[in-house]
Amino acid sequence: MAAAMVTPPKIRQTNLFIGGKWQESRSGKRFATISPVTEKVIAEVAEGDASDVDAAVKAARAAFDSGPWSRADARDRGRMMNKLADLMEANLEELAALETLDNGKPIRDALAADLPLAIDCLRYYAGWADKLTGDTIPIRGNYFCYTRREPVGVAGQIIPWNFPILMAAWKWGPALAAGCTIVMKPAEQTPLTCLRMAELAQEAGIPDGVINVVTGYGATGAAIVKHPGVDKIAFTGHTDTAKKIMVDAAGTLKRLTFELGGKSPNIVFADADMDAAVAGAEFGLFFNQGQCCTAGSRLFVEQSIHDKFVEKVVARAKTRQTGDPFDPNTTHGPQVDADQFNKILGYIDKGKSEGATCLTGGRRVGDKGFFIEPTVFSNVRDEMAIAKDEIFGPVMSILPFKTVDEIIERANSTCYGLAAAVWTRDVQKAHRIAASVRAGTVWVNCYDVFDAAAPFGGFKMSGMGRELGEAGLANYTESKTVTMSLG
Ligand code: ADP
Repeated sequence: MAAAMVTPPKIRQTNLFIGGKWQESRSGKRFATISPVTEKVIAEVAEGDASDVDAAVKAARAAFDSGPWSRADARDRGRMMNKLADLMEANLEELAALETLDNGKPIRDALAADLPLAIDCLRYYAGWADKLTGDTIPIRGNYFCYTRREPVGVAGQIIPWNFPILMAAWKWGPALAAGCTIVMKPAEQTPLTCLRMAELAQEAGIPDGVINVVTGYGATGAAIVKHPGVDKIAFTGHTDTAKKIMVDAAGTLKRLTFELGGKSPNIVFADADMDAAVAGAEFGLFFNQGQCCTAGSRLFVEQSIHDKFVEKVVARAKTRQTGDPFDPNTTHGPQVDADQFNKILGYIDKGKSEGATCLTGGRRVGDKGFFIEPTVFSNVRDEMAIAKDEIFGPVMSILPFKTVDEIIERANSTCYGLAAAVWTRDVQKAHRIAASVRAGTVWVNCYDVFDAAAPFGGFKMSGMGRELGEAGLANYTESKTVTMSLG
């Protein structure tokens, strides 16, 4: 029996959340968030400018400097974070549907991946709140020397549109656990779930001013980056945006952590479990319509199994169910907006004109909404645009290889270094690749396995610092050394 369509939820908040109050932007300006399915306006959302950012930073500073958060009992902070996770769980269907409405991702993915991972992340970091210990250090002389891990202060957090709830949880979790306060800017394409999460955070008892949300475009983000009252910026998004942020942050020498783009190699050896590798190749590229920074967009297949593998992966790509993301059977939704849609179609044209073979897909689906067919290219060469640039869409490029040495060199011949995967039954080969590929994450015989406890981030131009795990907390704490004379 066909599962019933999920209905879009009521939109509760479209204003800025500053100091615990919902407010219009000072300029009165609003911007539209557009449905990727209907291309119609979903809601008009307040557009914050530098004066709104200033108000949000003041609220966050007050909550940090004199307010309750940094001085709160660490265990109470953890309790409130767990309460927020509980409230997200209690409102899981609503949050998932709101995410699908704004982003276009299949409701089944929002329910099965985004929400559970976000809730788990908040619970994981809630557990850290009372476990941030320092060291006692034996130094020369008659002194008692110890370190304290203190919160870095006000964290400016700027997130993208591909996993809005999850990215908010990745950023809020370690910041709140460490005792920081927050000014967050969600992406202009997908502001709605972050606003709803802020409402739930207030309901969970997280004090006013601890989490502030200022919606808007890149200029709003830039105002956060430049504000002298912000101690640290955590950004996830485009590599080019990170370069601008570095320049804007230079004036105040802010601490920076970045999680950026990728062009991840997914390497399949002839001795791999072929069906598992085919499934991993499909999931590793097409999940979230290819809108993943970790997308396995360079699929390297050992020459001896190349043709058979290509045949299987094309057949599998064709089984993806493209359609209304509110249909629980849909596995492939629209791209997030017109810009992405046009950019991806442009890359598909480039792939064809540069001589790659489009084996399936390559076209728009329907005439409304930003739907693109799952697309597979073979006969791709390393120097083609589809093999070099981050496309951020459902476009798979398959490239053959012959030897281990060759594949290590080719896998590393990119400015990115976010993730990689290798499929093989040979343990030595797996370890050799894992150690040789310059990427922050290497998956062996699996793809896109994320856990709140496992650090994630990029080598090279894919990032700076690590999110998740204990490493993720380091970004939100300063180490203080205290030396006391013992007489
Ligand atoms: P994407 O390609 O994923 O849209 P962006 O880097 O453009 O990546 O956007 C990620 C986030 O960064 C969004 O919230 C966006 O509004 C914000 N942003 C864009 N430009 C700037 C900027 N110059 N300074 C700060 N934030 C920005």
